[in-house]
Amino acid sequence: MKIPNSTTCLACGSARLESFYQVSQIPVHSGVLVKSRAEALAFPRGDLELAFCSMCGFIQNRLFAPERLDYSVGYQETQGFSPTFTGWAKRLIQQLIERYGVQEQTVLEIGCGKGEFLAELCQAGKNRGIGIDPGLALEHPSHSGQIQWIGGVYEDHTERTREAQTVLCRHTLEHIAPVGAFIGRIRAAIPPQALLFLEVPDTCRILEEKAFWDIYYEHCSYFTQGSLGRLLRAQGFKVLENRRDYGDQYVLAFARADQANQAFPEENDLEGLNRLVRAFKAAAPAAIQDWRNRLEAWHQAGKRVVLWAASSKSVAFLTSLAVSEEVAYAVDINPYKRGHYLPGSGHPVVGPDDLEQAPPDVVLVMNSIYTEEIRRDLARRGLQPELVPLR
Ligand SMILES: [Zn+2]
Repeated sequence: MKIPNSTTCLACGSARLESFYQVSQIPVHSGVLVKSRAEALAFPRGDLELAFCSMCGFIQNRLFAPERLDYSVGYQETQGFSPTFTGWAKRLIQQLIERYGVQEQTVLEIGCGKGEFLAELCQAGKNRGIGIDPGLALEHPSHSGQIQWIGGVYEDHTERTREAQTVLCRHTLEHIAPVGAFIGRIRAAIPPQALLFLEVPDTCRILEEKAFWDIYYEHCSYFTQGSLGRLLRAQGFKVLENRRDYGDQYVLAFARADQANQAFPEENDLEGLNRLVRAFKAAAPAAIQDWRNRLEAWHQAGKRVVLWAASSKSVAFLTSLAVSEEVAYAVDINPYKRGHYLPGSGHPVVGPDDLEQAPPDVVLVMNSIYTEEIRRDLARRGLQPELVPLR
């Protein structure tokens, strides 16, 4: 899909955009790891300038160039190794089955990644699945059963939507720039009574917490409950449920193709969002400088500082701060990430078993929801570094 114009809102079409945050020359991918430090340092880069639409609340990177990204490259994005994340997926599957009757249906997942969630939903609810993801062009998941895997982008396979009683789109819409046109395509193809489930990061939390590490090039689109609800209604959906979950980190919307309904009270967030954007604009530079100072102080004191998780957040944290030897490495429990390097900053990725060789003094926990899980893991290894959750 071509981006028509970066001066209008790609959710509602309004020209009332206001830029409020810039980062230059950040890696175009942050969810992918590379095999050498040289490759990591030479990784393709792009610029980011976030703009807020005062009509619908949608936030977009107006400098985003989708042709720079290639989602068919080998991705290691699975979070299936964390008990916290696996528990979350199980709860969500139970809800889809019990509250929305996703049982013995055909379920289409747009951007299914490696397909773990779809496979589990199909197994638990005796559903048939259709999984679409550009990454599937490279390798097909080993989950057997009633699932058809399609390697490619949804735009080339929209006709498959007509077979579905449930359409899932989890952590994908934030990677799509023309979100209005994208939801419009789903609407044009989705059967009348089918369920659409969307899950995206919540931008209110990012703004409130000045969480600049949650802003990166791959994420060109940023939603709140309000802007997601407005987008769905504008494209001809009735919103059945719209809430925050996973420690308020995600927005979850359940909708059906139907006449648009009244907004829920918590979706009326335009005024508050306007204030949050202004507060973020004023405070983000100081928040970034504060982190640089803290890392510099630890470095001067001879402390070994490491990041827990080799994730998009870690890449964004390091490249937004433009730090290097102040951080030693990133740890990740996903064994496929070990031995790789973070794009942009070039930090090595180690596994938890490697920690004893170079024990950390300070562990920056990139996602605070995992803090207790990490504390237990370190304690089992006889390590008691200072744990600093990023807030
Ligand atoms: Zn808008």
